[in-house]
Amino acid sequence: MAHDVHIIGGGLAGSEAAWQLGRRGIRVRLSEMRGSGDTTPAHQGAGLAELVCSNSFRSDDDEKNAVGLLHHEMRRLDSLVMRAGEKARVPAGSAMAVDREVFSAQVERELASLPSVEIVRERIDRLPESGLTIVATGPLTAAALAESIVSATGSDRLAFFDAIAPIVHHDSIDMDVCWMAARWDKGGKDYINCPMTKEQYLAFHQGLLDGEKGEFKEWEANTPYFEGCMPIEVMAERGVDTLRFGPMKPVGLDNPHWATPEHPNGRWPYAVVQLRQDNKLGTLWNMVGFQTKLKHAEQVRLFRTIPGLENAEFARLGGLHRNTFLNSPVLLDRQLRLKSAPHVRFAGQITGCEGYVESAAVGLVAGLMTAGELTGQDWLSPPRSTAMGALLAHITGDAEAETYQPMNVNFGLFPPLPDVKKKQRKEAYTERAKADFGQWLGAIERVPA
Ligand SMILES: Cc1cc2nc3c(=O)[nH]c(=O)nc-3n(C[C@H](O)[C@H](O)[C@H](O)COP(=O)(O)OP(=O)(O)OC[C@H]3O[C@@H](n4cnc5c(N)ncnc54)[C@H](O)[C@@H]3O)c2cc1C
Repeated sequence: MAHDVHIIGGGLAGSEAAWQLGRRGIRVRLSEMRGSGDTTPAHQGAGLAELVCSNSFRSDDDEKNAVGLLHHEMRRLDSLVMRAGEKARVPAGSAMAVDREVFSAQVERELASLPSVEIVRERIDRLPESGLTIVATGPLTAAALAESIVSATGSDRLAFFDAIAPIVHHDSIDMDVCWMAARWDKGGKDYINCPMTKEQYLAFHQGLLDGEKGEFKEWEANTPYFEGCMPIEVMAERGVDTLRFGPMKPVGLDNPHWATPEHPNGRWPYAVVQLRQDNKLGTLWNMVGFQTKLKHAEQVRLFRTIPGLENAEFARLGGLHRNTFLNSPVLLDRQLRLKSAPHVRFAGQITGCEGYVESAAVGLVAGLMTAGELTGQDWLSPPRSTAMGALLAHITGDAEAETYQPMNVNFGLFPPLPDVKKKQRKEAYTERAKADFGQWLGAIERVPA
């Protein structure tokens, strides 16, 4: 069958994009390599939209939780992943969890029911030179295609692993303890610095040694990246002072909170944890050099012992995984198109979003954008105040390109509401998002198809 759009990858994002296009009568070729004799190191079977690890789409609370809000927005756009998820739902309290076999089979059944969608089991090794294309090959994109993407984008623009340092919500950092400065006062006062005494540092170092760590999967351990961005606990194991000569180096950082008549500018702490701005809004800050394989609960416990971070709220916790993703803020335009080859759109985790739901949401929006392009409509982005709009804006330009790492949806990506009391902010973000999403939906639905 001739097609209007070629989608490469039948995971969460590719299946969702195919659904959005196919139900509008647009002819789609959906190429999925599993089922043709190929697979990835994490997938087990050949079903579309296979969930490679947990069976949870996380919180389904659309009043106080950003991912729950994203569920809500996806449902309003008749998301296939949400629709099949409902059919496959298993009890999980306020979370949405699914029977993974039922879910995958349901996705496949619904797609197969669309006469304009052709599902082909084949591996694609090169980016197509022409024709509208959506690349949704995920964190474990097959090697030949990854090479072709590197040729189109440059080798330093496609990462093969993530090295995620924890990201902290700015309004949870105690600035009576921390201070803004750059080393030796060079450049602007761009970093938030958390000071440590010798005693605090030694206790923290011991905590890193004792902390419970996650294991590397065999195929992750073989990925040659650990010298370049070594987990902080591995650095700690190399010697008690290794961190003080690395990411926790205190030299050139006068702490004004420790000023005395003799030292009016303050003193250097024994060690420092630095945080760097992570998004344009300034609501999210990453802990510099703190990529880690510590278990999540352990990270929260230990990092809250850092002076100034006692009440830290984490937008995401640290991790290191094999993960293929683009430096999207630089490479993609606001419609997820490769700037250097605009017939190619990217969707799903390869854009640098993180998680099943986020990947599906970016697939959904890539489908809508492509449908609009084919029918000659101008694209109207969902407002940044919505979950979908906030995630999309982050990926396509609002994130700091230099420190770009995969990101879950969270309220830190939303334009702040500083006048609302902290305790009421989640409800306020949600209320604003739902109103703005409704208006946006009204506007796009008014555009004739
Ligand atoms: C090991 C692991 C565990 C994870 N666990 C979780 C979790 O528990 N919860 C969570 O929310 N997120 C998790 N993620 C993150 C992420 O949400 C999932 O990887 C998600 O499936 C991403 O969706 P996607 O559609 O972008 O990619 P995928 O779902 O991986 O889909 C990509 C598809 O493209 C196919 N493909 C690849 N290359 C080619 C090619 N050249 N030609 C044709 N087809 C190709 C693959 O076979 C695959 O089916 C995990 C990721 C990994 C790697």
